[in-house]
Parts: sequence; C-alpha cells; structure tokens
Amino acid sequence: MAEVLVYVDHVDGAVRKPTLELLTLARRIGEPVAVALGAGAEATAATLAEHGAVKVLTADAPEFADYLVVPKVDALQAAHAAVSPAAVLVPSSAEGKEIAARLAVRIESGIITDAVDLEAGDEGPVATQSVFAAAYTTKSRISKGTPVITVKPNSAPVEAAPAAGAVEALSVSFSEQATGTKVTSRTPRESTGRPELTEAAIVVSGGRGVNGAENFAIIEALADSLGAAVGASRAAVDAGWYPHSNQVGQTGKSVSPQLYVASGISGAIQHRAGMQTSKTIVAVNKDAEAPIFDLVDYGVVGDLFEVVPQLTEEVKSR
Ligand code: FAD
Repeated sequence: MAEVLVYVDHVDGAVRKPTLELLTLARRIGEPVAVALGAGAEATAATLAEHGAVKVLTADAPEFADYLVVPKVDALQAAHAAVSPAAVLVPSSAEGKEIAARLAVRIESGIITDAVDLEAGDEGPVATQSVFAAAYTTKSRISKGTPVITVKPNSAPVEAAPAAGAVEALSVSFSEQATGTKVTSRTPRESTGRPELTEAAIVVSGGRGVNGAENFAIIEALADSLGAAVGASRAAVDAGWYPHSNQVGQTGKSVSPQLYVASGISGAIQHRAGMQTSKTIVAVNKDAEAPIFDLVDYGVVGDLFEVVPQLTEEVKSR
C-alpha cells in the first residue's frame, strides 16, 4: 500500500487535533507516515501510532525552534525523497499552508489548499473544496507530481486505529535559506483560555446586532458554557467591538466547526464564505427575512439579548 506523508503539528510533543484528523484521511488513501520535527518530536510517536501512523520520522535541531517555515520545508523535502509518498498532507493553518506551498514548488508538484474532505481515486487522491465564497463545492485531484494537500481543521473525525508507529530518525540537511532568517523578538498574545478559532469544534459568533463591545460578554458567556471559540462578523470588527483576529469570513478566518452559532449576523456572502462548511449552523436573528436563515439547520427568530442568555443558562444547567 502506498505511503502518505502527514506533517505533524505539535507543541512540545503534544499532537494537535488537526493532525489526528489528517491521519484519519491519510488512512483512506494509504499508510500514514508521520513527520514530526523539533523539540518533543519523539514524544509524539505514541499518540500518532494510536491513530494509524505506521512510521514516525523525527528530526530535532535548533533550526526548528523558532516557528520558521523553511527548515520544516527542508525536512519534509527530505522525507519526501526518503519515502516517495502517494501524497503529502499538511494542516491548513497559516504556517501549514506556507510549508505546503513551498514544498510543492520544491518538488515540482501541484497543490490543493483548504480541502474539507479527501477520498481515494483511480488517478490519485480526490480533494473536496468549498470555493468562490462557498458558492460551489468542487472535487479535484493533482495531475503533476506528488499531490500536496492542506486540509482544514474539523474536516474529519479523530479515529483510534492502532499501528506500529516505529520511530525513525530523519536526516535533514538545511538549505541556505533555512539559516538566513532569525526571530529577533516575540510578543505572546494574552490567552483567553478559549480554543483557537480555526480549530474549535464549536464557534459562537456575534455581529452588528450585538450592538457594542460590552455586549460581546453575552456571546462570550455562551461560548464559555459550550467550550467554544468566539467569532465576529466584519461589521462588529470594523466597529471596534472585537479583534480582527476573531473575524470570520472572506477577509477573516475560515472555520469549519461541528457547530456554528451566529447571533445578530445577517449572513452576507462574505461572512458565509468563512463559515458555510460548518457541520451544524444555528442563527439567532430578530429579522425572519435575514439571509442567514437560508443556510441554518436551526434558526431562532428573536432578540439575541433575550435568546442568547437563556441558551447559556440552559447549557449550563445540563
Ligand atoms: P448586518 O448585515 O448589519 O446584520 C446585522 C444583523 O443583526 C441583522 O440581520 C439584524 O436583523 C440582526 N439584529 C440586530 N439586532 C438584533 C438583536 N437584538 N437580536 C437579534 N438579531 C439582531 N463580513 C464578514 O463578516 N466577514 C468578512 O470576512 C467580510 N469580508 C468582506 C470583504 C469584502 C471585500 C466586502 C465588500 C465585505 C466583507 N464583509 C465581511 C462585510 C459583509 O458584506 C457584511 O457587511 C457583514 O458581514 C455584515 O455583518 P453583520 O451581519 O454583523 O451586520
């Protein structure tokens, strides 16, 4: 069976959920071979093996320490040369997409970004994407080189599938570019304690209807009762009520959670572009004609200042 390289996103050996989702998809098209880099790379092996990795290629070097992408591209290129895989899968984070794009150029392959599903095809893996502001769903495959595919978080379930997960050291020689950039300072963002927006299983978003920065406390309370991330429409962000890093949509982040709750959001095409692939969509809007109701699974016509706190209390009571 063909091997499929899976780039491992981890923090000091703790594997992040999008990588486990990639292993589920990789098993549909071949045998997953994981590539884990940097401090804690070997510590990822047990988790990766539990989720189907037949092999874990590891490398650690100071070059991997500073979130620079080129050293990681060098390593993936070395893994590609060593394994000759049927495909390379990378999580669709900002970093993952840069790594994947650079790798595709290096190995002269085509790339598909932001896939939301993946299946085996007669002529190679077939990826599903949601394109043109989510107006179309396309299926495509790469016809040149080894397919490099980035997959959006929450696109597949995490499945236990015990495999050997044998650890092997990957030999990497760094390119000139890898040593040509240095991180000179770092400013950590204050943590809210909430999940990262693009990876969260549940996202609770507020729009212009929230009517003020202080009122976002209502949205946050519902989010916290559900263990969710908080999102915002551009109208709310432009008004200065919530940070741009939380904006969902065409010019914000693209999310694909199990549950998306939109409150006081009309459902403009540019907002839909960032959330339409969510598995279940719930909206609270006082206007029964709001376009958001065209795409919801459950809709509440009502005032969010009444409905959302009731919802929060109900969730908390369970
Ligand atoms: P509105 O459209 O004003 O809707 C507010 C809604 O709240 C209304 O439906 C109203 O009925 C409801 N409401 C009001 N009060 C209450 C209440 N008390 N209870 C319940 N409901 C209430 N938008 C994005 O979101 N993300 C993007 O990335 C993005 N990118 C864009 C890029 C471009 C190039 C352009 C041109 C636009 C972009 N937009 C984006 C903007 C987009 O077109 C809309 O203007 C925006 O999404 C509207 O935000 P909203 O739904 O919060 O506000």
